[in-house]
Amino acid sequence: MCVHGIFLVRVIKVIWQAVRGTSKQNYLICSNMQLKKYSFGVGDRFARQGEAQLKAFMMADDKGIDITPVWNKSNREHLTVGSEPAETRAAAGAAVKRNGWKGPWFVDADHINLSNVDKYIESCNFFTIDVADYIGEKVPESELKQFAGKFGRYAGELRIPGIPAPFDVSRDLLMAAAEKFLFAVKEASGVYRHIERTKGKGNFLTEVSMDEVAAPQTPLELFFILGSLAAESVPVDTIAPRFTGRFNKGVDYEGDISRFALEFEQNLHIIDYAVSEFGLPSSLKLSIHSGSDKFSIYPVIGNLIRKHDKGIHIKTAGTTWLEEMTGLAMAGGDALELARNIYFEALGRFDELCGPYANVIDIDKHSLPAPAEAGGWDGSRFASALRHDPDNPGYNKHMRQLVHVAYKIAAEKGDVFTAMLEKHRDVIAVQVTENIFRRHMCRLFDL
Ligand SMILES: [Zn+2]
Repeated sequence: MCVHGIFLVRVIKVIWQAVRGTSKQNYLICSNMQLKKYSFGVGDRFARQGEAQLKAFMMADDKGIDITPVWNKSNREHLTVGSEPAETRAAAGAAVKRNGWKGPWFVDADHINLSNVDKYIESCNFFTIDVADYIGEKVPESELKQFAGKFGRYAGELRIPGIPAPFDVSRDLLMAAAEKFLFAVKEASGVYRHIERTKGKGNFLTEVSMDEVAAPQTPLELFFILGSLAAESVPVDTIAPRFTGRFNKGVDYEGDISRFALEFEQNLHIIDYAVSEFGLPSSLKLSIHSGSDKFSIYPVIGNLIRKHDKGIHIKTAGTTWLEEMTGLAMAGGDALELARNIYFEALGRFDELCGPYANVIDIDKHSLPAPAEAGGWDGSRFASALRHDPDNPGYNKHMRQLVHVAYKIAAEKGDVFTAMLEKHRDVIAVQVTENIFRRHMCRLFDL
């Protein structure tokens, strides 16, 4: 063969490899947007803390950590507060403008499903498709068999790079995984397609969540969940499994930290392997729901993502509302009075407020300070009961969780509450920024 011939063969080979490589590695990627390595979901229930929240991201940026803000608000929160997704987007956009934030930012339709996604499609560019309720729903036998057939190549000893011991994958295990998750994955796919039809492929980020369930998903289950999402052509950007241990709202992690560490590290390897096996987006990362305040596992998460050079998405939605309550208490006078009354009302409406959050709170009723006690506290004592400072003897995690789910009462107070937020915006803003930056970002990124 002449020199030109050899050159031509080489060129064809390179093109062929590139095409093959693309089709295997990236067939689901056709995205105009990608989430950066680190991102934090922040929640702003009353749409007044955007600037104070964003300031924390700017402080992290000053320290060399680039974190993308994602304003998330679940359908449950919108319904409780009586707000609209367009308001979340407007408040976030205004904060971005006023603070001169130059980086990317997103608005997350958090915990949505087919019944409520429509009202979010225009205002949001990040969708957390919640399929927790569909876990274990029945699919036809033929689909179970199809699943077992599709993933049959992983049967036997499955070795995942980075994980020392192999997994033992039997046909029964594959069938059990299909029975547990296939319906949920198909549901996620239906919601994804529905959004895609309006927004267009690649114009939004997709998260699939199954965190609000009683039983955690194992790393191996996560592998098959990701495989079936890929098979349904859902280009998932972030995945929120239910991890081992308790991720209660607004308080620290409860559980076996070394077990969590093992599982979390395995999940990082599972994601890498799933990306290469199934052609999912290479930026795919774990999302930690109820991720605020999990201070005892932040060093574990931080060390492991640094060790393996991985990204993370942490949702910290409700923690800002608690800072609003803390700030009001510190402001004293009628603001303290309002914060107190919200707590007292919450005590009386315990079951109603806690019901929707049963899987993500653990409150010992007997450890809640009674009105006779809390009514005598000054602002700083009330604030120290609420503020998540485990070293402060005044801190009360039961009260903090109850107040976490009591934002409904603040919403019912309407203008009385929001006017108070405005009146004391300076003291509240400091709480909000400090909480996100110092207590959360600094701990996680070891700043
Ligand atoms: Zn969640």
